[in-house]
Amino acid sequence: MSRVRLLPDILASQVAAGEVIERPASVVKELVENSIDAGATKVETIIRRGGISLIRVVDDGCGMDRDDALLSLERHATSKIRSAEDLAAIATLGFRGEALPSIASVSRFRLTTRERDAIAGTDIVVSGGRIEAVRDGGEAPGTQVEVRSIFYNLPARRKFLRAENTEARNVEHQLHLQAVGHPHVGFVFVRDERIAFQLPPAATLRDRIRDLYGRELIETLLDVRQPASAATTRVSGLIGRAGVSRQTRAQQLVFVNGRAIESPVLTAALREGYHTALMKGQFPVTFLFLQLDPTAVDVNVHPAKREVRFRDPNAVRETVVAAIRATLESGRESWQQQFRAPEPATQPTLPAPVFSPPDYSGAPPAVVPAPQFEPGSRESAAQSEIAGPRTNGTQHFQIIGVLNKLYVLMENENGLVLVDQHAAHERVLFEELRRRMEEQGVPSQRLLLPQTFDLAPRDAEWIERNSATLRKMGIGVEPFGPSTFRIESVPAFLNPADPVEFMRKVIDGLKSASDSASPMRLGEDMIAKTVCRHAVKANDPLQHPEVEKLIVDLLACELPYCCPHGRPTMIQISLAELEKKFGRKV
Ligand code: ADP
Ligand code: MG
Repeated sequence: MSRVRLLPDILASQVAAGEVIERPASVVKELVENSIDAGATKVETIIRRGGISLIRVVDDGCGMDRDDALLSLERHATSKIRSAEDLAAIATLGFRGEALPSIASVSRFRLTTRERDAIAGTDIVVSGGRIEAVRDGGEAPGTQVEVRSIFYNLPARRKFLRAENTEARNVEHQLHLQAVGHPHVGFVFVRDERIAFQLPPAATLRDRIRDLYGRELIETLLDVRQPASAATTRVSGLIGRAGVSRQTRAQQLVFVNGRAIESPVLTAALREGYHTALMKGQFPVTFLFLQLDPTAVDVNVHPAKREVRFRDPNAVRETVVAAIRATLESGRESWQQQFRAPEPATQPTLPAPVFSPPDYSGAPPAVVPAPQFEPGSRESAAQSEIAGPRTNGTQHFQIIGVLNKLYVLMENENGLVLVDQHAAHERVLFEELRRRMEEQGVPSQRLLLPQTFDLAPRDAEWIERNSATLRKMGIGVEPFGPSTFRIESVPAFLNPADPVEFMRKVIDGLKSASDSASPMRLGEDMIAKTVCRHAVKANDPLQHPEVEKLIVDLLACELPYCCPHGRPTMIQISLAELEKKFGRKV
């Protein structure tokens, strides 16, 4: 008795739909991508009840004639690729020819479409994959797809849907991805009869992000720098400055050839690029665009096209790491600019001799004898306003005092700056130690009693290969039998209580850091952990020259704006904010 059977078409589509269409957001993704592929300049998405009762996507793209419209509902029907060569170098968002038939097989579906110059359009009604009506339609040129009652015929799938709010948020996130990925396309999102956002076609990515997320975010973003070394991957976009982070991945967006993707390779690269500029457990803000030769990246990995496979993942990762680092460091200059104190001419003459304004009159900046900050005394702090030294010949700042034995108060062009003395000192120490490690290796300390430990063969081999790196990090290990090692010295500044335990952690850490990643990265981790102990604490009362030196050193750092754990070292309170608070400005 024969048991193997071909599946009926509708059932086959429903099976395929299982992979492509998980929830309303996946419908929106497929439909919006079709609109963009069709050259739309405006895409409107309307949902009701999280998209569960209705999803409608309307575009002003090229539309379809009646034959194409009917064909587009067949499985494996696509206008986007024709041959295996096309598949190897995909330039459109779609290519699988699966989305429309899949969606139509699991919903009450309606496709209305019209080519630009056609007199009439076409209107096709489908229910659970069965075509119910085909007629002339009178809509404007473009395409409109309406999806009602998703999974009405697949109760098992419907059960997997989440609360309407959650589904709506997923849809919105999906639209954010599309909107950021295609700034030149206008987007409208209507949720339960209310306009959630309305984005005009934007000239630049910056404009689009401002329209979508607001001006405040834009001010924390840096233009991504293309690293000099990268030949095959172009990197562009905007990323958050050091110290800018989020509790979720919602604003960690990465695009490969225009497609928003999720990629462990790239997630790791972002982490590595940010490294100490990111707080533990936090995520960076990135709108990062990678442009690769289409033959160097395979998008045909996942039916939902969320993932890609790079031909040379290491090269891509290295490029991204280098780009992030270069970009974060580029943020330093503009940041330092802000630390110019107000110009002397604009300094008001204070009526009463409460403060003596700094004297900038041509003469080299005075080295003002440092008043001591008496802990807890406001008056003494107030009197300590002085001109800071000019750094790099052009910059200067004004220290006003120290608040609560922790926050250094400073004045700059924009207003008030609060510096966390502990975080600032951590950053300074961190960069100093790192420099030393890179240049001559960190000093190590011999153990009085060298300890032996065993390793699995692969780890043993790894240690042998990396002994030079370990030495730079101040770690001395020698083979002591086939897979036994003796640990003889540890970094002096660390002085771990249990050297063997420490060694195992170092090995794990170095192994999980990717092969060609700077091996110094783990050294950085060690340093970052330890500087905390050596930095001045919140309650250490600092003398004025110390405060001054701390600020000068901080401003000279590569990444001055955050401590090596990614916390900010300083906060700006702008004059505009103060004016608002004092009711001087509405
Ligand atoms: P794919 O996008 O992978 O080609 P789809 O099932 O999503 O597969 O769409 C099938 C075809 O229908 C597309 O190749 C395209 O020619 C046509 N199509 C779908 N949506 C639109 C649209 N909004 N405007 C114009 N043509 C469309
Ligand atoms: Mg498609």
